[in-house]
Amino acid sequence: GVVTRFAPSPTGYLHIGGARTALFNYLFARRHGGKYLLRIEDTDKVRSTREAIEAILDGLQWLGISGDGEPYFQSQFEKRHAEVAHQLLEMGAAYRCYMSQQELAAAREAAQAERRPFRINSPWRDRTDGPADEPYVIRIKAPQDGETVIDDLVQGRVTVANAEIDDFILLRSDGTPTYMLAVVVDDHDMGVTHVIRGDDHLNNAFRQLAIIHAMGWPVPNYAHVPLIHGFDGAKLSKRHGALGVDAYRDNLGILPEALFNYLLRLGWGHGDDEIISHDQAVEWFDIAHVGKSPSRFDQKKLENLNGHYLREADDARLATLISPKFGLSYEQLPALIAAMPELKARAHTINELAEGAEFLYASRPLVLDDKSQSLITEEARTILAQARQKLAALPNWDHDSLDAAVREVAEANGVKLGKLAQPLRAALTGKTTSPGIFDVLVFLGKDESLARIADQLP
Ligand code: GLU
Repeated sequence: GVVTRFAPSPTGYLHIGGARTALFNYLFARRHGGKYLLRIEDTDKVRSTREAIEAILDGLQWLGISGDGEPYFQSQFEKRHAEVAHQLLEMGAAYRCYMSQQELAAAREAAQAERRPFRINSPWRDRTDGPADEPYVIRIKAPQDGETVIDDLVQGRVTVANAEIDDFILLRSDGTPTYMLAVVVDDHDMGVTHVIRGDDHLNNAFRQLAIIHAMGWPVPNYAHVPLIHGFDGAKLSKRHGALGVDAYRDNLGILPEALFNYLLRLGWGHGDDEIISHDQAVEWFDIAHVGKSPSRFDQKKLENLNGHYLREADDARLATLISPKFGLSYEQLPALIAAMPELKARAHTINELAEGAEFLYASRPLVLDDKSQSLITEEARTILAQARQKLAALPNWDHDSLDAAVREVAEANGVKLGKLAQPLRAALTGKTTSPGIFDVLVFLGKDESLARIADQLP
């Protein structure tokens, strides 16, 4: 069966590109009824951090694409990596290289002076008589003639002349494995059948194949996915506002299903479908339709998609998400849930949703924003006072009774509804946009509404 893996290095947060790679691996495995594994590539002990590991696990869980089973930690398999390096040595497919730093530097300088690319050309490649107690690295004996071909599921057929593949290091002089070796050994041992990752790893694939061929292991299928670019076409970076997945959740207020849908559509498509559910994605996802050219990250599109998912989302879930902002008790939740259909109709993000709900919990006397304050004129006060009297006398505080009462007051003054509704909204919410004015009155209730109006009267 199919086995995929997501193999992040825990040196920073889970960024958008990594999350999309994980998503493609997840979907491909689900589509084929296979397994999707997570491998934390923590062999770089200086740059790997526990915080980064937690951020990655947390981000994946939030998106609903945690790996199947427990994650693998690459550092736990260093002995096994070294074992393979020594196996290659015994087979004559690798060699102990004793070149010193100075020798390497001199070779590099010579290449530069002659303006040719540097390729390691070790005098130890075909020797086994190295000094017994000198430090050495183990290098692969890369093929020197012919070419290596990859039939990449995204990139198509890619060919590299073997002369371009250098004798890279497998095991450092301190006995630790390089990334190149560890990836190949782990992929083999984990039974990975499909390697789906960013196309910045395509060059590495040719080196990794040298190890795979030497060991006589089965060659996995490769799918090198184009990187994500920013709005200006340059590789996505912090400069484009590219953030960790946790920041899209916490700072912007994006729902996981919206980011899931957005990342899916970034580089992959199913006709013109914009909205694709989790189950449809599993049913439809195919690697062949991943585009060859980089896709552009567009935060506005993500926010619009998020607006769609907000409107679809369960009201109680949304109320629970924004309630901490207002320090609501459990007893206060039902009122917020009741207001949610109106509140969410206007928001694109959780943050906007919370902003829209602020008026419900504002304390009196309200601080009006400038635009709202300018609506409270002498003339407006007169009509607000009349409206307040009318509302105070109402036996029923429901949408229709409020609608009728407010209209009556406007008509009695010979003005359009808006002339009263605008200052009324200002008095009740402190803002110029809000849910419909009668809904606002219902949400706030009679006492609070009358008190807020009175606060604006002389
Ligand atoms: N650890 C590598 C990275 O984070 C990925 C290795 C791989 O997918 O083969 O870029």
